[in-house]
Amino acid sequence: MYCPNCSEEMNSEVYENQPVLHCSHCGCSFFEENGLSKIGKGTARYLAHNKKSDFILSSQKLCPKDSTVMSSMHNNDEVLQNIPLSQCTVCRGIFIYPEDLLTLKKARETPFPALRAVLVFSFFTLFSLSALAGFVTLQTRNATQTRADDIIKNVAVSQSGRYFFFSFKTLTPVRSEVTFINTRTKKVVVKTLSSTAKTLHYITTTDMDPISDLSYFITLTDEKGRVILKTETKKLSIISP
Ligand SMILES: [Zn+2]
Ligand SMILES: [Zn+2]
Repeated sequence: MYCPNCSEEMNSEVYENQPVLHCSHCGCSFFEENGLSKIGKGTARYLAHNKKSDFILSSQKLCPKDSTVMSSMHNNDEVLQNIPLSQCTVCRGIFIYPEDLLTLKKARETPFPALRAVLVFSFFTLFSLSALAGFVTLQTRNATQTRADDIIKNVAVSQSGRYFFFSFKTLTPVRSEVTFINTRTKKVVVKTLSSTAKTLHYITTTDMDPISDLSYFITLTDEKGRVILKTETKKLSIISP
């Protein structure tokens, strides 16, 4: 059975009486329909950290059991709404990324997740960037760090043949795009990473110039498209988080 994300062989494991297919290469997991809600934070943490790389491929995902194309799972639950889950229409199994598994279990532990989500959302929309930056500075207690480094975490870049991967995380859910500039030809390419507010941002494309020719800057916007943050232009190099 092969991983829907990275295509490596998955391991068949059992945690808290729940059968789990886990990929120790990229850390993704595949649960039975009700299995995801039955595992605890300890198992989630173990599964999410048991990985060799942060390989994220946004192409369509095939069920590891029956190779059916999985579809994104829509849910009215306040916590699940912000977490990209894929579900198999045949065996009803659920696929989840390691980071999302952690986010889900952490959110579940917090009382009144609905209230918490509302608070985070209104905090984010009502306050200006300066308030957000102030909050971040307060949290890290390190005023010398740049605002961008505080908000944007774990930038990862890789290129393999025609495939180009770019990903990063943000502290709060935001919309994001990356502007790539070819330093030789001056060609500018703008790629949207998250068209809705998310904390994990990534693209996979096949039409990029070689990494050695590219510089980039990241633009974060809020739900209304207002710019929250624009990073300085940096040279692109293979970066692992
Ligand atoms: Zn995998
Ligand atoms: Zn299936």
